Amino acid sequence: MRTEAFIDGAFHPAADGRTFATVSSRDGSEIAQVARGDVADVDRAVTAARRAFDRGDWALADPAQRGRVLRRLAELMTDHLDDLAALESQDTGHPIGDARGVDVPNAARCLAWYGEAVDKVYGEIAPTAADALALIGREPLGVVGAVVPWNYPLIVTAWKLGPALAAGNSVVLKPAEQSPLSALALAELAAEAGIPDGVLNVVPGLGEEAGQAIGRHDGVDKVAFTGSVEVGRRFQVYAGESNGKAVSLELGGKSPQVVLADAADLQAVAEAIGWGIFYNAGQTCHAGSRVVVQRAIADELVERLTGVAAGFVPADPRAPDTVLGALITADHLDGVMGRVERAAAGGATILAGGERAEPVPGGSYMQPTLIAADDPADPIVAEEVFGPVLVIQTADDIEDAVRLANDTRYGLAAAVWTSDVRTAGRVARRLRAGTVWVNTFDASSMATPFGGMKDSGHGRDRSLHALDAYTQLKTTWISLA
Ligand code: NAD
Repeated sequence: MRTEAFIDGAFHPAADGRTFATVSSRDGSEIAQVARGDVADVDRAVTAARRAFDRGDWALADPAQRGRVLRRLAELMTDHLDDLAALESQDTGHPIGDARGVDVPNAARCLAWYGEAVDKVYGEIAPTAADALALIGREPLGVVGAVVPWNYPLIVTAWKLGPALAAGNSVVLKPAEQSPLSALALAELAAEAGIPDGVLNVVPGLGEEAGQAIGRHDGVDKVAFTGSVEVGRRFQVYAGESNGKAVSLELGGKSPQVVLADAADLQAVAEAIGWGIFYNAGQTCHAGSRVVVQRAIADELVERLTGVAAGFVPADPRAPDTVLGALITADHLDGVMGRVERAAAGGATILAGGERAEPVPGGSYMQPTLIAADDPADPIVAEEVFGPVLVIQTADDIEDAVRLANDTRYGLAAAVWTSDVRTAGRVARRLRAGTVWVNTFDASSMATPFGGMKDSGHGRDRSLHALDAYTQLKTTWISLA
């Protein structure tokens, strides 16, 4: 297990020797002490990244070569599937089946996808007069800082590294302090795959320390951030108070599942909604955490959802058949429970769950929870909970459902369930979210961009659009006169 910062191709302790504990979500035990990077470590990493960028053995390499290395890294991840999945599950509480079947394969697929794509993207020639040849090309930005959360450490990291590295940038990555281990393992594999020294650096540490140091460093050209709305806004301030670096923000959500009275097969709808909120214990940015159901079918849907929720039994993340593992930390569980208790005290109705669970002593577990709450201003309706908590709102008609669905500060994702294709198209057009699913939830592909509107941010991960986001346009005007 790697626990030191990875800078300029080698592992190092923090400059001041400090460490922090990373703790198992499964049972609350300490897994390891990890280097606590701070300003000096980030500065060292940014300096190495800049030197590597200027050296050009990555930034100026044939894109096909960068592609080969990224595809090799994806292969190495697959070769080390068991180790990476075990680290990810231990650090985050994800069920081991999900870590093996989803987290590691999806992260590897993302790196391979950008490795396959990068030598198939062309520039442009501008329509000028015949006495000039104006070339419009894309160049890497330079040094990219990537600051990521704990909920899907490998996947979100790959969403940043894939396009940033494919485009030729150098990267300084800061994993979340709750889940630093898989990023450090990935750095070792990246070196083995052939990523040159200094091109990928990983500085573990606390948000206020290493995270802020990346945000404020004058040598960082862009920060790609995924995390909470509040911290995302801090990065915009850091940028404004330092070198005005670009900042992309992938933030939280309170995504509505709009279920209309003509939805087909309510049992299938209830199951999709259950997976959409209880997968990863609800700690998913685009979790479908809010149902907006038309009154005519509300009772039937709630009954079916209650049955579905009962199938998500909190259990040991190490067990191969577990579907609902641990929440990330005891503090986070306390926060989720506090929100549920305040909602109940304020008049919301707990329809199922609402309690802690203890399948493994010392871990942070919670029963899948359903809450009926009709006041859009109630914090349980308005705010991201980031736990296995589904809020149910009732709508009078389609117009009311669209109004309730859009009555939120967030705009990451939404779904509409209806058997009328015209209604589906009309409602999908009006839902303000970066992704709208129709009669499904959480379907995705590397080929589709993912990101938010409104307070959910403005960046887009995945797809060729994300590759654009790690490049800048350059015009080269050649006189033919
Ligand atoms: P967070 O904002 O607390 O932390 C995210 C990262 O920022 C971590 O690496 C953390 O160390 C760092 N950080 C924290 N405080 C900082 C500070 N003051 N200065 C600089 N860096 C700081 O978020 P989290 O709790 O780790 O993750 C959960 C959030 O992430 C949820 O809101 C979730 O919706 C969001 N998320 C969004 C997406 C998306 O693609 N839109 C994906 C996953 C998670």
